[in-house]
Amino acid sequence: MRHIAIVGSGPAGYYSAEAALKRWGDQVAIDVFDKLPVPYGLIRSGVAPDHQSIKAVTRRYEQTALSANVRFVGHVAIGQDVSIAELSQLYDAVVLATGAPRDRPLDMPGEHLGNVLGSAAFVGWYNGHPQFAQLDPDLHGTDAVVIGMGNVALDVARILAKTRAEFAGSDIVGHALDALGSSRLQRITIVGRRGPHQIMMTPKELGELAHLARGAPRVDPADLPEIGEDALLEPGLRKSVNHLRAFAAIPEHTRADLEIDVAFDFFASPKRLIGDVAGKVTGIEVERTTVMAGRAVGTGETYVIPAGLVVACIGYQTSPIAGVPFDERAGRFANHEGRVLPGLYCVGWAQHGPSGTIGTNRPDGFGVIERIAEDWETGAVTGRKAGSAGFDALARERGLNVMTFDDWKTIEQAETARARDDAPREKFVDIAAMIAASSA
Ligand code: NAP
Repeated sequence: MRHIAIVGSGPAGYYSAEAALKRWGDQVAIDVFDKLPVPYGLIRSGVAPDHQSIKAVTRRYEQTALSANVRFVGHVAIGQDVSIAELSQLYDAVVLATGAPRDRPLDMPGEHLGNVLGSAAFVGWYNGHPQFAQLDPDLHGTDAVVIGMGNVALDVARILAKTRAEFAGSDIVGHALDALGSSRLQRITIVGRRGPHQIMMTPKELGELAHLARGAPRVDPADLPEIGEDALLEPGLRKSVNHLRAFAAIPEHTRADLEIDVAFDFFASPKRLIGDVAGKVTGIEVERTTVMAGRAVGTGETYVIPAGLVVACIGYQTSPIAGVPFDERAGRFANHEGRVLPGLYCVGWAQHGPSGTIGTNRPDGFGVIERIAEDWETGAVTGRKAGSAGFDALARERGLNVMTFDDWKTIEQAETARARDDAPREKFVDIAAMIAASSA
């Protein structure tokens, strides 16, 4: 029997567990750790609450989690409760599937002003992640700026624009629903430093902006390249640009009854954030750019976009763990094809950074298990370890309050039981409440 510890119970973690089971069957025992008492990482805390069909992938992870040789070991923070060195002594392989939960810093004057938020914090807030549940963003201003032209920027703009009724069927947490319900936003500006041909937004997600109940997307036709140039784009991007062209053609009179304008501001590179005497953001200064050989080049012309709320959706970083080599520049673990140190691996966003869909994590998971298999076969990693039994002894010695998959299922039942009429669940947003629910 070989023992594998997987740190992180999101997509990369569970696809790696699935791959290990496929490869070694009952010859492997897998412990999937999470610092939260609840599993599924990005699926629970990152995927937008109004995208329930994407969240349904957890049914697949549950199948893996319920396999005889797989355990969920929740509420254990690796690097704090238990060190990487200790884990490496107990398991034949340790796989870091911890994702990229931190915001990349904006790195510009004013970034610490009040109501300037990163998307990890803002998304975590509306998804009820315990770390961000208390964020309390001020939504009483009329103008919000969303920085970045990726799918996270789209999620944030859409969530800000939706009415309460449009969240029917979603699992947005109650505190966010109430705050968004009383928002006074009139204009959401999505700021991109490059042009329509350089967006990272995928067509299905971009198309959703056309179906908002109280808002409509706005694109300045002058920002769009000659239509003939679209032919050079790869098909997905071409479809997205088609959406932008449709947004640019929305007639002005159809906006008359709408409360919210969702405006795309292309060729605008953020330079600094401007605040009031109380230290709260009031605007963002951007520099007009042109795109040369795919790069944004400043023109020297600047202007200010009013903003009582700024959400930077410019990408994420992995959180370092003591004892794990870290690539500061790339913001992820230092690794070569998933190998970090002998017996220590990383996978998914913790390996290659925050890009790709949920599904991309499946080949990633199978890839890292392939690396482990190669290393075990070549004898580069040897030895019989204590595995789960050894961990349990350590957890008892430390007095850790470990949450099992059964505990999670009890929490899940309680979340389902207290859901609003139109919602699949009402999440617990603090760890103590989750633990209390597990033994109710
Ligand atoms: P992303 O796709 O990499 O987009 C990041 C955006 O931020 C880009 O437009 C980038 O512009 C911009 N940016 C970066 N640094 C900037 C700076 N300093 N100033 C101004 N703009 C800056 O990242 P993401 O939106 O965080 O998404 C992460 C991954 O999750 C992606 O693979 C995404 O597709 C996926 N995701 C998928 C869904 C879905 O399928 N529904 C939902 C959410 C996320 P440049 O291109 O100019 O650098």
